Amino acid sequence: MRGCIFCKIVAGELPSYKVYEDERTLAFLDINPINPGHTLVIPKNPDVRNIFDIPKRDWVAMMEVVHELAAAVEKALDADGVNIMMNNREHAGQVVDHPHIHIIPRFKGDGLQLWPHKKYKPGEEGIMQKRIQQALAT
Ligand code: 5GP
Repeated sequence: MRGCIFCKIVAGELPSYKVYEDERTLAFLDINPINPGHTLVIPKNPDVRNIFDIPKRDWVAMMEVVHELAAAVEKALDADGVNIMMNNREHAGQVVDHPHIHIIPRFKGDGLQLWPHKKYKPGEEGIMQKRIQQALAT
C-alpha cells in the first residue's frame, strides 16, 4: 500500500463523509467542495494512480457508481446539472495520486467557468483526428 490520502480514507485511518461503498468502490464528500455536495468516487485498489494504470474492472465498477451517484447528487441538492471530471497527472491538475472522479453539482448562475475554449487553426482538426486514430491503432 502506498499510503496516499485516499488509501487512508479507504482503510479508515482518515475520516470522511462517505455516501456510498461497495467491494471495489468508495464515494465521499470532497473536503473543499466546488459546490456543496461535490462528491469523489474512487476505486479501493491501493495500487493505482490515475486513468492510465487503473484495471478495467475497477474502472467499470467506478463508472457504474458515478452513473448512479450523478443522479443522486443532482436530486439531493436540487441542482440544475452536474459536471463529471477527472484530472490525470500533475499537469492536468491531479493533486491526489489516486484515481478519482469528481461529481460536481451545478446551479443556475453559480458563476463557474470550467471550460475556456480555443479555436482550431486551419487543417489542425484533421491532424488531431489522424494522430488520435493512429495512437488507438498501436
Ligand atoms: P484533484 O485535483 O487531484 O483532481 O482533486 C483532489 C480533490 O481531493 C480536491 O478537490 C480536494 O479538495 C480533495 N481532497 C484532498 N484531500 C482530501 C481529504 O483529506 N479528504 C477529502 N474528503 N477530500 C480531499
